Amino acid sequence: MKTLARSAVEMPSSGIREIVHVAMTMPEAIRLEVGEPNFSTPPHIIEAAYRAASEGFTKYLPSAGLSSLRELLAQRVERVNDYHVTMEQVNVAVGGVQGVISTFLALLNAGDEVLMPDPAWPNYEMGLLLREAVPVHYPLYVENAFIPRVEDLEPLVTERTKLLIINSPSNPTGAVFPEETIKALVEFAQKHDLYLLADEVYDEIIFEGEHISPALYDPERTISLYSFSKIYAMTGWRIGYVIANKEISKTISKIQEPQISCVSSVGQKAAEAALTGPQDCIREMRDSYHERRDVVVDVLKEQGYYVYTPNGAFYIMVDISDSGLDSRQFALKLLEECKVAIAPGTAFGNYGRDFIRISLATEKNLLLEGVQRLCQYIKHLKAERG
Ligand code: PLP
Repeated sequence: MKTLARSAVEMPSSGIREIVHVAMTMPEAIRLEVGEPNFSTPPHIIEAAYRAASEGFTKYLPSAGLSSLRELLAQRVERVNDYHVTMEQVNVAVGGVQGVISTFLALLNAGDEVLMPDPAWPNYEMGLLLREAVPVHYPLYVENAFIPRVEDLEPLVTERTKLLIINSPSNPTGAVFPEETIKALVEFAQKHDLYLLADEVYDEIIFEGEHISPALYDPERTISLYSFSKIYAMTGWRIGYVIANKEISKTISKIQEPQISCVSSVGQKAAEAALTGPQDCIREMRDSYHERRDVVVDVLKEQGYYVYTPNGAFYIMVDISDSGLDSRQFALKLLEECKVAIAPGTAFGNYGRDFIRISLATEKNLLLEGVQRLCQYIKHLKAERG
């Protein structure tokens, strides 16, 4: 038999999935590894989808998305993100995941270099490798609260560099980049004539500070990624969207066709209901994540493992270097011995290797118990090493 596609065979699988698969065999495990709200989708959104399906709204739709939804999304960007777009600049995608893939397909040729954060959401790397582009990692240091610094990016630029990816609020760190950092990154992209992919899927989950969209400063070169998954607790509905200049947007609409044809019709109706219905659910969920963040930070302080405070999204990184284990081994042993599942920092890149990621999207008491067990286990391993 002939060989399979090299890019597919060589693409690494997600380091979080490995833990998920073991955790799924342990019903008693405390699950702090997945990046998924523990809340249900608000009922008015579910009802809208049900109504649409009952009324026969079950056919193919245009590949860029329903015009009425694209119009509402343009309005949402104006209201929440503070910049002006027209509906032609909006493409509805199968979650942020597929929005990223379409962006890569629209912008990149094989061999193009892409600056991406490390630690980062693993799908950037996977998508780039599938596209046969070259991921070039720029470091995010805990000493700088995981905020990128232009001086760390400068030496990584070559003639092949085409795209800079930034993600704030960040997965896995929860960092929210201040305005001066966003401005500096946009200026850096301008200086080297790079496209800028701004992953803003957590834009309304902010505890301190303000979310600043890079498109405010350079709407032409910025491609902005958004999603219903995290903000409205709609992960399984698979609805996201990409905002870009008209040329990129037209190209993305064209390439949506062979990939997905269109996003689910009832899902798009649910998304419309999310945008036009009451928005209190966003605040309520954000307040819960905020409260849990504070509780976890307190425990880490008490136990001597506090290093920084995440200001958004729903994650916190914990330094486990005292354990003497690499974070993958640590995650597997913690699960086996203490029945707590967390995401190993190695799943997010080399600079994450001394850390594990805890998801705050878990009920408060379980979260607290999980973090206590985690801290005790690091102490136990440290004592064992003497
Ligand atoms: N971007 C980041 C930083 C994420 O963490 C995720 C999901 O975990 C996504 C994009 C994509 O989410 P979805 O495809 O559910 O919209």
